[in-house]
Amino acid sequence: MEIKAAVVFETSGDFRIEKLELDDPRDDEVLVQIAAAGICHTDLAGRDGHLPIPPPPSVFGHEGAGVVEQVGSRVTKVKPGDHVVLAWDYCGECSACKQGKVLYCLNFFQHNFHGARPDGTITMHKDGRAIHGSFFCQSSFADFSLANERNVVKVPEDIPLPILAPMGCGVMTGAGAVMNSLQPRPGSSIAVFGVGNVGMSAVLAALVCGCTTVIAVDVHNDRLDLARELGATHTVNAKEVDPIEAVLAITGGGAEFSLECVGSPKVFRQAVDVLPRLGVCGLTGVVPPFTEVSLNMDLIMNGRTVKGILGGDAIPDLFIPKLIELYRQGRFPFDRLVTFYPFDEINRAVKDMETGRVMKPVLRL
Ligand SMILES: [Zn+2]
Ligand SMILES: [Zn+2]
Repeated sequence: MEIKAAVVFETSGDFRIEKLELDDPRDDEVLVQIAAAGICHTDLAGRDGHLPIPPPPSVFGHEGAGVVEQVGSRVTKVKPGDHVVLAWDYCGECSACKQGKVLYCLNFFQHNFHGARPDGTITMHKDGRAIHGSFFCQSSFADFSLANERNVVKVPEDIPLPILAPMGCGVMTGAGAVMNSLQPRPGSSIAVFGVGNVGMSAVLAALVCGCTTVIAVDVHNDRLDLARELGATHTVNAKEVDPIEAVLAITGGGAEFSLECVGSPKVFRQAVDVLPRLGVCGLTGVVPPFTEVSLNMDLIMNGRTVKGILGGDAIPDLFIPKLIELYRQGRFPFDRLVTFYPFDEINRAVKDMETGRVMKPVLRL
């Protein structure tokens, strides 16, 4: 079928809206008419050649939400007309998947970064030329997206799809890091380093968990203001004060939990250095491969834990419905992070995200 998609033709190039040919769904695939797609830093990492993916031309987008248009003959999870959010794909067969740790799937790359289906077949063409798609098994910067039964999550129809789009990656990553991985008990203290979309979702989740000291650390005052408005009890501008001293002073000796959401060795070190004994630091910030960090071994030896977290340790089918119910009850107002753009203004949306003007741009298709 003919679709309209935002194509990147050269590394670090602009997005160009083009007409492409999309394959029909196979037995286990789901064709989704995309209503909205969030833009995430991983899309831009792909555009800039920082991911282990095939070279352009490529279609990115991995926070799609839409309506099921057609399903393959073996699909039973959803039917045409269902509202769905698209998440990441996984194999379902490896040792990690069998433990329910689908984000740590041993075959994650073939299922998400192959530029094609796991078996290597390309799903998108332009005038006979192959276009790399299947990004996170969706490539949802397009009006139609081909997903797998595994990575579609059915969602309620009374909540507008454009609001739900960022659930599939950024929101799930930040909220899951707190609710699934760190699991702070009520009354705990937590410091979140970097309150963009992921960090702000973590702040909201910390409040849901009953943390009574929630410290947002960032260098942008507008983000810190929003964090406070959403319930953070303290804010620290790391450009103005030493964030380690500030967090130690606020907590009287250290935050029981910290979360690095920036992807910076310097910030990671800070997030570890604010922990008291038995404190846990979660790492969600994405860095280029082989990035190294130096840590105080003696400090870690004294009962501190450093924990890498992918995708909020979430099983999307189970976790996304929980977040939606919290949103419905007014306890998880993640829609406050979203700014909408028409699809053909994708380059403006990207620019606004890169300059920090907006937190989570969502394209309306
Ligand atoms: Zn797997
Ligand atoms: Zn993402």
